[in-house]
Amino acid sequence: MASMDTLTIKTENKFRSLITKQAYSKGEVICDIPTEKLFDKANRYTVQISQEKHTEVGKLSALNHSCDPNVILDTDRLIMLARRDIDKGEELSFFYPSTEWEMDAPFICLCGASNCIHVVAGARFLPLSTLENHYLNRHIREMMIELLNNTEKHLTSLQVVVDK
Ligand SMILES: [Zn+2]
Repeated sequence: MASMDTLTIKTENKFRSLITKQAYSKGEVICDIPTEKLFDKANRYTVQISQEKHTEVGKLSALNHSCDPNVILDTDRLIMLARRDIDKGEELSFFYPSTEWEMDAPFICLCGASNCIHVVAGARFLPLSTLENHYLNRHIREMMIELLNNTEKHLTSLQVVVDK
């Protein structure tokens, strides 16, 4: 089991960030995602791991969002891994919509990345063309497909009304 001993929380003006005390190479497993405490709703200490489940993630709740992140949360394998080579002392960040369908507390992103999505509110509020450029977990893909199918059904029913 990969522990979180290599990670430390930095607090500056009440703003928390998660720092790594060691370097990682791309693809390396950094730690496991804890699953001891599950909820059926998102809060600021949880990560969504399936359509119905949100897990309290301990230290990992200090991970900030980035539109060009350096880590990936894989909710199938329940691990956090390096998306690229990471230096010792670097702040870790992940793409929140890769796990979160609809966030409890949306915010404006100021990450400055050329592909910045600006409004971070969860995957359901992003166009497919934006999402497909990011690592997405299975439950997010499934929920996106459901949403698209429902939209299609809705459009089909509208079409029926128009045709009449
Ligand atoms: Zn951004």
